[in-house]
Amino acid sequence: MLGAIIGDTVGSVYEFSNIKTTKFPLFSPFSNFTDDSVMTFAVADWLLNDPSQNPNSLIGTFVHFANKYPCPMGGYGGGFHNWLFNPTTEVETVIQPDGSKQNIIHEIRKPYNSWGNGSAMRTSAVGWMFDSLEETERVAEIQASVTHNHPEGIKGAQATSAAIFLARTGKSKAEIKQYIESRFSYDLSKTCDEIRPSYHFEPSCQGTVPPAIVAFLESSDFESCLRLAVSLGGDCDTLTCISASIAEAFYKSIPDWVVAEAWKRLPYDFESLLRRFHKLSHYKQVDYIPKESTSKPEESPRTGKTSSIGNLLDNLFSNKKEKSSSEYDLDRFVKAQADQYSGYYTALAEITAGLKQSHWIWYIFPQLKGLGKTYRSQYYSISGLDEARQYLAHPVLGPRLREMCNALLSHEGKSVQAIAPRIDALKIRSSMTLFDQVSPNDIFAEVLETFYDDSPDPQTLKLLSDSSKQ
Ligand SMILES: [Mg+2]
Repeated sequence: MLGAIIGDTVGSVYEFSNIKTTKFPLFSPFSNFTDDSVMTFAVADWLLNDPSQNPNSLIGTFVHFANKYPCPMGGYGGGFHNWLFNPTTEVETVIQPDGSKQNIIHEIRKPYNSWGNGSAMRTSAVGWMFDSLEETERVAEIQASVTHNHPEGIKGAQATSAAIFLARTGKSKAEIKQYIESRFSYDLSKTCDEIRPSYHFEPSCQGTVPPAIVAFLESSDFESCLRLAVSLGGDCDTLTCISASIAEAFYKSIPDWVVAEAWKRLPYDFESLLRRFHKLSHYKQVDYIPKESTSKPEESPRTGKTSSIGNLLDNLFSNKKEKSSSEYDLDRFVKAQADQYSGYYTALAEITAGLKQSHWIWYIFPQLKGLGKTYRSQYYSISGLDEARQYLAHPVLGPRLREMCNALLSHEGKSVQAIAPRIDALKIRSSMTLFDQVSPNDIFAEVLETFYDDSPDPQTLKLLSDSSKQ
C-alpha cells in the first residue's frame, strides 16, 4: 500500500522524462502522488467498505475518488478518463404521485476491454487483504474487470496481487518468480541491465508488470527497488508503483525518511484511509505507518496555497475535526474543497479573476437536493434547510461561501454568464436562493439582487415548499 504510493511518488517526475540510471534524488519538490495512488486508495476503500466485493460498488468508489481528485499529477489515462467522466447515459421517465413526469438520468459504465497497466497499478490493497492466494486472485479479477476485462488486464492485476500475497507470506524470491512465470506465463528471465536500453513508454500490463517484477527480484532492499524500477524508464510512476508494492510486502521495511517524504505529500483523507487499512487488514504486519498526531499539520504541502484567513479557519477546524459529529457529513465538502487543482483556492482564484474555468461548482456553491441528476450534483447536494444552516455555521464552509460571494460581487456590473457558463450561473442562483432562505438579508440576497434581478430560483423555492408540507 504505502510502498505503491511511494513508488508512484518517486516515479512521478520521471514519467515523461525517463532517466536510465539508478543515481537520482528519490524526491524533488515536484514529486507527488498521481492517479496510481488515487485509484490504489479507491480499491482499499472498496475492500474495507464492501465485504461482498460487489463490482458496482467498486465502480461507484472509482467515480467518487476521481471526483474528489479529478486532476491528479499526470492525469488519468485516456480510456479510463472517458469511462470516469463521460459515461453513457440512459433516461428513465418516472411518473410522480401527482401525475407529473420526472426524467432520471442513469450513468452507465461498462468495462472497455482494456489491457492497460491501470489494473495492476491500483491493486496492492488486494494483495494485503485476504487469507488465501485463491481469494486474492479472485478479487484481483473482480477489481480489474470493471474496466480492464481484457485477459491481459486481468492477468496484470492478478500477477501483481499474487506477488504481494506470496511476498508478505514469507515466500522466497525464487518461489515468487517460479509461481508468476508458470501461472501467468510472464517472461522474467531478463535482467534490468538487459531490459533497460531498449525499454520505452509502455502503458500495457504485459509490457509493464514483468519488468516491474524483475526490478523487485533484483533489488536488495526497498530503496534499491525504487532505483532499479525508475532506471528502467517507460511509464515510470506506474512501473515503480507496481514494483515497490511487491518490494514493500517482501522487505516489510521502508527507511523512515522515505516514509516521511511520501507521507507529507498525502492529503488528510488518504492518511486516515491508510491507517484504517493498516488496522483492518494483513497490512498490520508492517510497523512504519505514522501514528495519528493529536493535531493535524497546518496545511498539506500539496495544497501549496496559503491565505491567512484560509489557514486560520483550517486550523480552527482541524482541532475539531475528529470530534465533529455532524449528522450531515459536511466533511465531504471540506475534502472536496481541499483538492489542489479544483478545490476552494482554485475556485476563489478563478472567480476573483472573473472567469470560471475548471470544475468545482457542486461543492463550492452547493444546491438543494432534487435539482441535479448527475452523481456529483447529488452527492454534494444539501438535503434541506437544516443542513444549509449547519453549512453556514461551519467554521470553514460558511466563511468560504461568503468569501466566494464577495469575489462574485466584485464584478458588479458584469453579467454572471460572463463569469461562469450558463448552467453554472443557474446553479449559483439556486445555491444563493437556498442560503437566502436560512439567512435572509445576508450577502446571498445581495448576489441575487446584483446578478439575477433579485429573482430567486423558483424550483428551489418549490422543492422547499413541498418538503415543508410533508
Ligand atoms: Mg500515474
